[in-house]
Amino acid sequence: MKITVDRDRCVGAGMCAVTAGEVFEQHEEDGRVVLRMTAPPEQWADEVEEAEHLCPSRAITVDPAAR
Ligand code: SF4
Repeated sequence: MKITVDRDRCVGAGMCAVTAGEVFEQHEEDGRVVLRMTAPPEQWADEVEEAEHLCPSRAITVDPAAR
């Protein structure tokens, strides 16, 4: 899977970091999302997809087919 985030859309709600903290974190100054990795291992797929769905601003895009 491959993840992209749109930091311009992110409102800093933090759902991603709570749901999949191995992959997403919040910038310590502006609170918006920072990707810790763009291609996480399959073991985190469920958490990453949940984060995508929970994000209130639709700032996370997951391509499950990309390697
Ligand atoms: S859940 Fe969405 S809006 Fe909230 S910090 Fe993550 S990417 Fe940003």
